Amino acid sequence: MWKDSPPMSDLPIIGHWIDGKTVLGSTRSQEVWNPALGKAEKRVLLADTATVQAAVASAEKAYPAWRATPPLKRARVMSKLKILLEQHAEQITSLLTAEHGKVAGDAMGELQRGIENVEYASYVTELLKGEYTRNVGPNIDSWSEHQPLGVTAGITPFNFPAMVPLWMWPMAVACGNTFVLKPSERDPSSALLIAQLAFEAGLPPGVLNVVNGDKEAVDALLDDARVQALSFVGSTPIAEYIYSRGCARGKRVQALGGAKNHAVVMPDADIGNAVSALMGAAYGSCGERCMAIPLVVAVGDAAADAIVAGLTAEIAKMKVGPGTDPKNDMGPLVTKQHFEKVKGYVDQGVAEGAKLVVDGRNLKVAGHENGFFLGACLFDHVKPEMVVYREEIFGPVLGVVRVKSLEEAMKLINEHEYGNGTCIFTRDGEAARYFSDHILVGMVGINVPLPVPVAYHSFGGWKRSIFGDLHAYGPDAVRFYTKRKTITQRWPSAGVREGAMFSFPSTK
Ligand code: NAD
Repeated sequence: MWKDSPPMSDLPIIGHWIDGKTVLGSTRSQEVWNPALGKAEKRVLLADTATVQAAVASAEKAYPAWRATPPLKRARVMSKLKILLEQHAEQITSLLTAEHGKVAGDAMGELQRGIENVEYASYVTELLKGEYTRNVGPNIDSWSEHQPLGVTAGITPFNFPAMVPLWMWPMAVACGNTFVLKPSERDPSSALLIAQLAFEAGLPPGVLNVVNGDKEAVDALLDDARVQALSFVGSTPIAEYIYSRGCARGKRVQALGGAKNHAVVMPDADIGNAVSALMGAAYGSCGERCMAIPLVVAVGDAAADAIVAGLTAEIAKMKVGPGTDPKNDMGPLVTKQHFEKVKGYVDQGVAEGAKLVVDGRNLKVAGHENGFFLGACLFDHVKPEMVVYREEIFGPVLGVVRVKSLEEAMKLINEHEYGNGTCIFTRDGEAARYFSDHILVGMVGINVPLPVPVAYHSFGGWKRSIFGDLHAYGPDAVRFYTKRKTITQRWPSAGVREGAMFSFPSTK
């Protein structure tokens, strides 16, 4: 392992952020691509176990003083960070566009949602107040408080490289924990820059560390006994792995996984507005969102025909190209490998007999011929037994399923392995209420295509979209990153001798 000099490379090197400085320890590295150009532009170091252990040691060393820091002082760091994030918004979003590919406006939306989590963490003094009761018994008072856990960690996916880390560590550190973040190795730069801004905002060295890496780094975090709790967001197979291995080692774990979100369109829906909403939900961010809508369940053929016609017309107007051009609606997929995977699903849908109404497979973007661009694809007559119905594609591929009733639509959704998000388009309040009451999905929209909760509500799916009990960010984050302690206190009067009491104390 070398510590001070990067590997031989003509590409800029992305290192780690440990103990308030950039660290270049690691023997392995991998390319970071600009997906719009189809070109490797940087190399990211992949942390080995020793580098991860150094980050955990730094977090462990920083913990006692940070835990003892008054919550208001911790909150002030978050308030300062919010300002710095706003000041550096363009720098951060241009990194998102360069490494992930998303268009500039979408990147700004992502960052803004992340900033709102920092803003919520700056209210931590209110959130940590606890509960107090005077006189739970004669001269006895009792209170419950939230105590931090110690060293906590987070592992995040490629599709929201700035926002998802901000779901985790701001509240974790605001609650008095220290943190080790392992961002996606595919687009690591924004999380690293934000950690440096947090340091500038006043976060002491070691309170937040960032290690870049892959499975080796993740396993090192999972196996390190000093890490008390671990938050994960990513695909379902890895979420399940993280949850079972982390829990087996006695950690508190929340692991959010993949999704396949259905939008129900009722016969009475405002079709024009539903079409507009579905365009953004299906093709925004190239479909690389865990709350994207890849499936429309149309109730009745009239609704299905109208939706397919409306979407086809809108897709024809869509502009696909590099995210740096503000005129574009959709950028490229994140990597060549992911492009091939998504295109393979479209081929499979055709082979399975779904009707490919719009075929984006042959799209060419002038001047960006090597970019990982796939045009919007639209399938009609998708059937529940098809792979394109069942599996998460995570690309600009929308399928329409035709059903005869709301009950049939809900049965499909409830039987699907994932339960992250869903929505219904209707003008019928009774149907909407029935749907939201009985659907087995964690986040529900009523005429809202992407019902991503705001920062002061928590985010999480059901079924195999989550492993663990507490959702991400919002009030659940305070519960996840703290332990409850309940203290019962009594001060007997001096000189009054009380006899032993053998019955169980109660207030009868
Ligand atoms: P991913 O599961 O491939 O990677 C997520 C993280 O896990 C990365 O940091 C990666 O380095 C690490 N990882 C990957 N393989 C690993 C392995 N074998 N062992 C240990 N760690 C490993 O996910 P992704 O492709 O980066 O992101 C897309 C997925 O994330 C989609 O399935 C999407 O639905 C999901 N996602 C879910 C939510 C949610 O809130 N439920 C939000 C965003 C993304």
